[in-house]
Amino acid sequence: MSDVIIVGAGVIGLATAVELARRGASVTVVDAAHPGAGASGRSQGMLLPHGSGPYTELVRPAWQAYHELADAVDLDFGLRPGTQLMLAADEEHLTRARAELAGLRAAGFYAEELDESAVKDLCPGVGPVAGAVAVPDVWTVDPGLVTYAWQRAARIAGARFHFGAEALRVNVTANRAREVQTPDERLSAGSVLLAGGTAQRSLLTRSRLPLPVLGVQGWLLSVAPPPGALRDGVLLTEPGWVAPGQTRRSAVPPTVGDFAGGAQGARVSFALRALSDGSGLLGSSREALPRDPGTPDRAAAAIAARAARFISAVRDWPVTAVRRGVRPALPDGLPAVGRLGPDRLWVSTGHAGDGVLLAPVCARLLADALLDPPGALPPAFDPGRFAGPSQLIQERPDEKGTAWSHSSRPRNNSGCGRDSAYGESNE
Ligand SMILES: Cc1cc2nc3c(=O)[nH]c(=O)nc-3n(C[C@H](O)[C@H](O)[C@H](O)COP(=O)(O)OP(=O)(O)OC[C@H]3O[C@@H](n4cnc5c(N)ncnc54)[C@H](O)[C@@H]3O)c2cc1C
Repeated sequence: MSDVIIVGAGVIGLATAVELARRGASVTVVDAAHPGAGASGRSQGMLLPHGSGPYTELVRPAWQAYHELADAVDLDFGLRPGTQLMLAADEEHLTRARAELAGLRAAGFYAEELDESAVKDLCPGVGPVAGAVAVPDVWTVDPGLVTYAWQRAARIAGARFHFGAEALRVNVTANRAREVQTPDERLSAGSVLLAGGTAQRSLLTRSRLPLPVLGVQGWLLSVAPPPGALRDGVLLTEPGWVAPGQTRRSAVPPTVGDFAGGAQGARVSFALRALSDGSGLLGSSREALPRDPGTPDRAAAAIAARAARFISAVRDWPVTAVRRGVRPALPDGLPAVGRLGPDRLWVSTGHAGDGVLLAPVCARLLADALLDPPGALPPAFDPGRFAGPSQLIQERPDEKGTAWSHSSRPRNNSGCGRDSAYGESNE
């Protein structure tokens, strides 16, 4: 039996495994596939600052945690400093960039406005632009390697792994999560943490847990720019892309009418970063799943067109790969980190476009709460905020005395201090 079973070997599950194992807990990580199989292996690896919103205070601790990770593992996962250049296409865009500049400065990040000639000094191929905001001293990681760095750190800390093992459901008895059921075995646990990203939706449904995890799909194009076209360490973005509100707007599921009209759902913003091998990673799109099958091509095409608005020569750069990832998100754009339903059941998911950045800080917050209750979890991240009356489930013994049924009456969930909804398996 493990003190904690973690479902999901993405950055969220693995970073939390590191934190818990370092504090002495025995930890087993279960993944249906392998580390990085989900969104974590498909990100752009940018650890961008936020000038407003609930992540502002979390950015510097996250950067610090990535430096500690670099010290802990014998693996270069591409932790590098960079300069973010927020490019403004026109005056209206520049107004938004200036608002971000003010927010970043108020939050203590150094940022400055550049005119077009200063932008061209930094990146000769860019333009025409109305101006830009430069944010020096941001950090990036290699999107492919960062998950392995977290896995290595978790192994060093003593965590164990079950890969290729899908968690089918969480078994709950006497109001307490006790087991994770896989096709081959039941894994006993002191506590269970669900960190399975978008792919855990069927696990949540089978376990009757009221967390509306959505998928926000994003496409990235790997490009091969000519030597010198991308300045090492410069990240080109547009203003406004990092705000959680952007996720909220993109996470709205399509309607039947959207399908009927073949509506384009993807929101696209220019984001280009150089990787250490000289290639570039060009993005990015956001669209709620499910979309009709034609949408991916349109999203990739829209990314290419948006990039050409800022760098005309990009049209000649070979595209060496196109890939998609699905960001786990919740309807309000914020993550769910904390207790969910029965006793000893925890969740950390919905980090949307900032999961790589937030992984180490959310891991610490969750470990504080799990190992040393009540811990101090941000109320805005409370998973219980989605447990509406229509989803509430009331305990009612069946003939075996262990089944659950739906009820409209809220149930006070002991140990959590709030009403919550969940189901109990009788297996
Ligand atoms: C195009 C794109 C660009 C991005 N760029 C950035 C960026 O620049 N910076 C940033 O900070 N973030 C970025 N992100 C977001 C980031 O990648 C995600 O927020 C983060 O990877 C989510 O991690 P996770 O561990 O929650 O989920 P995932 O990485 O999806 O991992 C979940 C894991 O759980 C496993 N799993 C699920 N269900 C089960 C089950 N029932 N049983 C067993 N295993 C299960 C899956 O196999 C998977 O391995 C980007 C995402 C995309 C798609």
